[in-house]
Amino acid sequence: MKSLLEEIEACRLAFRQAIQRVKDRASLEEVRATFLGRKRGKVTALFEAFKNLPVEEKPFIGRELNNLKNELTAALEKKEAELIEVKKDKVERIDLTLPGKKRYLGSPHPITLFLEEIERIFLEMGFSIEEGPEIETDYYNFEALNFPPHHPARDSWDTLYIKNDLLLRTHTSPVQVRVMERQRPPIRIIVPGKVFRREAIDPTHLPMFYQVEGLVVDEGVTFAHLKGTLEYFLKALFGEKTKVRFRPSYFPFTEPSAEVDIECTVCRGNDSSCQVCGGSGWKEVLGAGMVDPQVLKNVNIDPERYSGWAFGLGIERTAMLLYGLNDMRLFYENDLRFLRQFRRK
Ligand SMILES: [Zn+2]
Repeated sequence: MKSLLEEIEACRLAFRQAIQRVKDRASLEEVRATFLGRKRGKVTALFEAFKNLPVEEKPFIGRELNNLKNELTAALEKKEAELIEVKKDKVERIDLTLPGKKRYLGSPHPITLFLEEIERIFLEMGFSIEEGPEIETDYYNFEALNFPPHHPARDSWDTLYIKNDLLLRTHTSPVQVRVMERQRPPIRIIVPGKVFRREAIDPTHLPMFYQVEGLVVDEGVTFAHLKGTLEYFLKALFGEKTKVRFRPSYFPFTEPSAEVDIECTVCRGNDSSCQVCGGSGWKEVLGAGMVDPQVLKNVNIDPERYSGWAFGLGIERTAMLLYGLNDMRLFYENDLRFLRQFRRK
């Protein structure tokens, strides 16, 4: 058996190791209880054993025991004071002169903002807004719009098929057909929404993008209405002084058809090396035309009595022009430095 003196020395060493590991109040209290606890403390147990010593050993061992107890008590007090110091230090190190953390508020996506602006202009002119499914049947996406199964124009509108007859719509025009099926003229609508094409991604092409189309069907509607409305719309969007021109074109569902250009917003036609318009001074913004009488017949609207016009424009391309951007992908990379530049006015 160890002598009491050896146990005192062992207890001292054990305590010195334990106190070194103390990092907080909880572990400090644990060490205090382990060594000085009234019931199970190691030092308390040594005092118990001391009682049974022969009288002649008591004075020397008693001194050693008291020394041990004093050393432990002093070390615990010192550690406790250090812990309080560390805590104080942490509190004092908060620098109240530093600027606070900023909380960023979310805001609508630039494409949403741009779409809302377009909707606002058309709502003012008495149009209403229509929506439809993004997964369409071949009939609504193509056939009802004069694209029979082997029509060559289908090649340039290659899309993503779900299965044989179901596809992701290549334009928002199927919604026009759906509206004409259930509503008799007068019809005055715009159709904003997502459309899909099988495209390789590059600065001016995305496989998914937004379009807005418009349709007017009524008695006595002429190309002059088309021209006046679109000119008003483009000037409201790009500015009163913006020049607009119409060029003859071809679409399967309109006849006659036109492509509509606006003056280049970057060089205004004054820079033959302009990257945005290629030096032409003009930028195509939308396609339009008089609704083909066959399309009206397909939905049982009498083309002898009614006529109509329609237009379509790509939201991202037009927004690029308005904001002076050269890469469409910026809209969908979710770089907050880019997105935060667009706020509701
Ligand atoms: Zn230009």
